Amino acid sequence: MTGERRRYVQCPCGELMEGRTDDLLVDEVQHHLREQHPHLRYDRDQILSMSY
Ligand SMILES: [Zn+2]
Repeated sequence: MTGERRRYVQCPCGELMEGRTDDLLVDEVQHHLREQHPHLRYDRDQILSMSY
């Protein structure tokens, strides 16, 4: 398989985040969590397991 697959994570608050790569997606989600949900912590594996 080649190429990159766009991935998405839907936050429980309804925000939809997307990333071109796993790393970008994880960054995006962690940034959102810091800004909007400082009490929530997800690590990389958890974020990727929520992605589709
Ligand atoms: Zn959210």
